[in-house]
Formats: sequence, C-alpha cells, structure tokens
Amino acid sequence: MKIKVLGCYGGQLLGFHLTSFLVNDSILLDAGSPTEALSLEEQHSIRHICLSHTHLDHIKDIAFLADNRSLKRLGGTKANRSITIHSLPENLETLKEHFLNNSIWPDFTIIPSADDPILKLAPIESEVSFEIDGVTITPIMVNHPVPCTGFLLDQDGMQFIYTADTGATDRIWEIANAQTNLQGIIMDCSFPNAYQHLADISGHLTPNGMIKELEKFEALSDVPVYLYHMKPESLNIMTAEVEKLKLPHLRMLTQVDELLF
Ligand SMILES: [Zn+2]
Ligand SMILES: [Zn+2]
Repeated sequence: MKIKVLGCYGGQLLGFHLTSFLVNDSILLDAGSPTEALSLEEQHSIRHICLSHTHLDHIKDIAFLADNRSLKRLGGTKANRSITIHSLPENLETLKEHFLNNSIWPDFTIIPSADDPILKLAPIESEVSFEIDGVTITPIMVNHPVPCTGFLLDQDGMQFIYTADTGATDRIWEIANAQTNLQGIIMDCSFPNAYQHLADISGHLTPNGMIKELEKFEALSDVPVYLYHMKPESLNIMTAEVEKLKLPHLRMLTQVDELLF
C-alpha cells in the first residue's frame, strides 16, 4: 500500500494544503487538496473518494476534480470516466443538498447524464467493509460535530488506520488493537494545548488530548503514529509541544510524505 500525503493541515495558507491522502494512485481519503497537489494526469487516475465527513476542508476539491474531468468526458473519452464518493448516507445527502446543488456548484452527479455521471455516490455503513481496487476499507464512527467516519484500510494482510477529524473516541482504538499487522495510524491533532476548549467544542485533539487517546492504543511503542490537521499558524507551537512528549514513532506529517508498506 502506498499513501501519499497531498495535504495534512487543518487550515489553508500559502504552502499548506487541506486534508487529502492518495492511496495507491486511485483512492482518495478526503478531498481537501487533490487539484492543488496533483497534475491533471494524476487526477485522472482517481476513481474513488472515501469521504470522512462534509466539512469544507475535506470536500472542497471534489468540485474541481469533477470540473477537471468534464472536458475529457465531453471529448468522448471513456477511460476513467467516473469518481465514486463513498460516505455515510447523511453525508451524501448533505453534498447533494448544500454543495452539488446547482447554486454553489453544478450537480456533477447528473452531468453529463444521470445514468453516466462524472460523480457517483455510494452509501457506506459504519463497520461494514467494502473493497475497492484491491483494498478492503472499513468505516468506523468517530467523534466530531457532524457524522464522521475514520477508515481502516487492509491490503495484502497489512492494515492502516486514518482516524479522520475526531475528538476523544473509543471504538477506533478497539479496532486498532484488534489488528494483527497494523502498519500505522494517521490521527487528528489540530490545536495547541492552550486551545483545549476550542478543540473540545469543535471535535478535535490537542497534543495533550492526543496523548490521552494514545493511552487506549496497545501497540503505541511499535506502530508509527502520524499527526495531521494541525492549524498552520500554530505549527511552531504544536511542533514544540509534540517534541516535548519524546515519543518514538510519533511525528507530524508533512506534505512531502509518502508512506509505503
Ligand atoms: Zn471536520
Ligand atoms: Zn477538517
């Protein structure tokens, strides 16, 4: 499995992209920044988006991915014609009602036609696995102000977990502890410790909250943990707070990271 970081920040600033991870060139985990980070050709390889939730920093580039595919489609090319968005039914409804609603952006779920659209919507259910492009994916409910799932990925007997945006939560750690060959975890760490209250009310973690979460994780000293969703303007303070913890195998992701296993 190859996981390329396209964006790993919880805010957008010059040089800092919003959350998006590319798995094996064809699957996106969230879509905050693929059209900022990938060439047109690389974008055309994307066939699936596993969407954790509908906050704008995770859906923004669905709009531009779809748009960038439309000319190719109108030109008659049949290859890589659609992108399937896998998410909870309530999230797919929110996308249709508030985003791809012909007011904010055209409804690419019926463009160019309803029976052959650029975007397809596939409802998922928490803890019901599905398989795409050789990867078995299991959504797991986490704790965020809107319906949100993390994802367990399993390919060739190796597992990886993406918590997505979450505050304190239990189930994903139970599932992490049940894996036999877990290769890594990408987890939320959004605000510096001084903003604990903001983290609590917005369903995110600080370094202090993150460490409490990791007490639930039995393989902490063996399995790498990568932090994402840091607020770029607080990155220096958060880096110092995370380094102070002196935990081996724990570090913040950067936009040049590519995880291979
Ligand atoms: Zn969110
Ligand atoms: Zn977010």
